[in-house]
Amino acid sequence: MTAKRLAIGVDLGGTNIKAGVVDETGRVSGRVSISTNVHQGAETILRHIARAADMARRKAKRRWADIQAVGLGAPGVFEGPEGLMRLSPNIQSLDGVPVARRVEEAIARHGLPVIIENDANAAAYAEAWIGAGRTHKARHLVLMTLGTGVGGGIILNGELWRGAWGTAAELGHMNLFPEGVPCGCGNRGCLEAYCSVTGLLRRFDEAIEAGEKSPWIRKHVPRRAVTGRDISDAARDGDPLCGRLIDETGRWLGIAVMNVLHILNVELVVFAGGMTAAGDRLLRPIRREARRRTMPLPMRGVKVLFSKLGNDAGLIGAAGWALRQIARGGA
Ligand SMILES: [Zn+2]
Repeated sequence: MTAKRLAIGVDLGGTNIKAGVVDETGRVSGRVSISTNVHQGAETILRHIARAADMARRKAKRRWADIQAVGLGAPGVFEGPEGLMRLSPNIQSLDGVPVARRVEEAIARHGLPVIIENDANAAAYAEAWIGAGRTHKARHLVLMTLGTGVGGGIILNGELWRGAWGTAAELGHMNLFPEGVPCGCGNRGCLEAYCSVTGLLRRFDEAIEAGEKSPWIRKHVPRRAVTGRDISDAARDGDPLCGRLIDETGRWLGIAVMNVLHILNVELVVFAGGMTAAGDRLLRPIRREARRRTMPLPMRGVKVLFSKLGNDAGLIGAAGWALRQIARGGA
């Protein structure tokens, strides 16, 4: 019997670095999570990435010789085999750093391939590999992550679609309102500015400032900052303002689904990230609006779902993509 091929998956977030050893069936062992210490600069972050990978390896009781690759999922766009980081809004100290090469140097076993990919792309690959894509036998799917921002990943014919130089699937920056609020990208009225958790909280604050009332929030969240989860819970318990905000969010995301279906003709659209805690209260208006606006043929048989992979999706996808790359000599 041949041993299973293994990669260490690392998910670099603005707050935490998560890592685990992932086998070729997508099973994770040796999960660890350490602080990113994003304000201590590039050297510290790179060292922590290498440390998290080593901790996961030891926790999973594996030798370096058992590991075929390290897959790193991170926010940003990466160029070339050295993983030169571009556009890293949350981890700015890594801008212009060849992250894959530097992590490779920092890892105890030199020469082990380190393959870096955008975190939402990695999550989309995980979804295609062992998530909803596999369950529903979908070869073409789109994933949208609804968190601090709105990220995206596109899988076409079972392959990650990276575009000409790796910037594909910026789904959070499709336009909803040409003269809308400013977005972090420099444009106005992007989906992300409205349908991220950040956007939802801004819309809540604006409604309160305009004199609207939220009895649920006033009762249950008297002394701390309101979270996206609070607004979801309030909507579920019948709070009219929060219900309207979640409905609107769902309608706008349904419009995003329509755009995706008209352009890409995928079979499956999966939403992930913090906002999906709202459950059916959010999923229903997304589906309703997508069905209402999409032409019948591209809508036929399409499934719109919330991810069930949870917090592991990023590291599983990063590891799976790395295994896939080295299997065809692309590392
Ligand atoms: Zn934008």
